[in-house]
Amino acid sequence: MPEDLRSRVDRQPSVAGLSEADLLARIFPRLQMEAGHTASTLLGPGDDAAVVAAPDGKTVISIDTQVQDQDFRLLWPNGYRTTGFDVGWKAAAQNLSDINAMGAQATSMVVSLTLPVDTPVSWVEDLADGLTAGIRELGAVRCSVAGGDLGRGREISVTVAVLGTLDGGRPVLRSGARAGDILALAGTVGHAAAGLALLEADVPADTLGPAERVFLDLQCRPRPPLGAGPAARAAGATAMLDISDGLLRDGRRLAAASNVAIALDPARLAELAEVLAPAAVLLGVDPAQWVLGGGEDHGLLATFPDDVQLPPGFTALGSIHALGTDDGPGVLTAGRAADTGGWDHFAH
Ligand SMILES: [Mg+2]
Repeated sequence: MPEDLRSRVDRQPSVAGLSEADLLARIFPRLQMEAGHTASTLLGPGDDAAVVAAPDGKTVISIDTQVQDQDFRLLWPNGYRTTGFDVGWKAAAQNLSDINAMGAQATSMVVSLTLPVDTPVSWVEDLADGLTAGIRELGAVRCSVAGGDLGRGREISVTVAVLGTLDGGRPVLRSGARAGDILALAGTVGHAAAGLALLEADVPADTLGPAERVFLDLQCRPRPPLGAGPAARAAGATAMLDISDGLLRDGRRLAAASNVAIALDPARLAELAEVLAPAAVLLGVDPAQWVLGGGEDHGLLATFPDDVQLPPGFTALGSIHALGTDDGPGVLTAGRAADTGGWDHFAH
């Protein structure tokens, strides 16, 4: 366990002092949500399994894990301490984003939490608060926590599985983009990467101004544009995914699945980079790398037929082209093949 958490453990009760039932009794009240959020949960926490409605006979499902020192640090080089609230919020946001990216709405989550025995109880309570705050504030108005599991381990690990509904519609896949389509973006791109760079820099977190702090906050508590996914599906989106590993990397995934080429509009890329100027100037770097390679904002990348009016929240970012005779699926920026950037869990 890192020193920062150990020093606080000395002053705060840890989970070691509680039975599983005691700890659940501290967590459950923080997971209670309003009737609209729980409408799909026919049977919630308390039995061996939950029961969740699937009115149209289809369930959209996804899962994501965050592990301490792999996906987040408790203490960052710039002095920022990751709160339980941050980890809970991010777990909700990442999972809700994957449901959004299918054009669906989340209906419930189950959570598996592994904790070192010296984790402060207050940190775990914060995590439950962050999870429900993320669901509420991001606008997942039909979602609640239907159940979960607690265990002990050497490091903190949070796994969330999320269920969703298409309300009778068809999912929007990565493979449906066609030559002539418009490529569009909803939400931000590169902000979370700027925030990560700030967390890893030697500029103390408590000296950051509001213009830089907003990026750090977005890295710790992402704000995916929930609602834009179902809106894109209703507007006739031909392909979609969320940008979790970077515009280039995720753009290439869409291009490969659809067997097309993507051309990004250089003017739009420059506009997206300009927004990141406060952090880029502070750290002395080119913000284009964050726009092209940064993930974790969980914006949506979607394609639409060119005669469709883009739904609210989307702006054009490029265009879809047929493959030439001697090139494969990929992403072009300013006419050149873009082959750098993006996050790969196994390559780094
Ligand atoms: Mg995704």
